[in-house]
Amino acid sequence: ATLPYDDDNIFAKILRGEIPCSKVHEDEWAFAFHDINPQAPTHILVVPKGRYVSWDDFSARASDAEIAGFVRAVGRIARDHGLVEPGYRLLANIGGHGGQEVPHLHVHLFAGHPLGPMLT
Ligand code: 5GP
Repeated sequence: ATLPYDDDNIFAKILRGEIPCSKVHEDEWAFAFHDINPQAPTHILVVPKGRYVSWDDFSARASDAEIAGFVRAVGRIARDHGLVEPGYRLLANIGGHGGQEVPHLHVHLFAGHPLGPMLT
């Protein structure tokens, strides 16, 4: 079972504008900003605007419009940053074994140099 959504999590505060961020995209369904501790030359976090902790939560409870909007936003961000041709990596850490630290669903977008084979 997923934890109940915590409205005080750091990404909720970023979404409400209570904590500053370096925003790269916002639309009806998604919000994206640069990771504060980048692990690649480009490291963007994309979050759905809805209150979802996990992939289970999102896939089970979100509307088709929310899911489509979020997926399309990730694709648009990659296009807008010129990443389609060079390529990039998407990653979502989910739950304890996934190493998720912030309990608002997010996808990491890594890019900007060859990332090599995935380690785990
Ligand atoms: P997770 O392990 O939950 O997938 O990763 C959370 C990510 O959020 C980490 O890469 C971390 O650097 C990033 N992060 C944590 N706090 C903040 C913050 O206040 N602002 C930004 N921009 N990124 C954050």
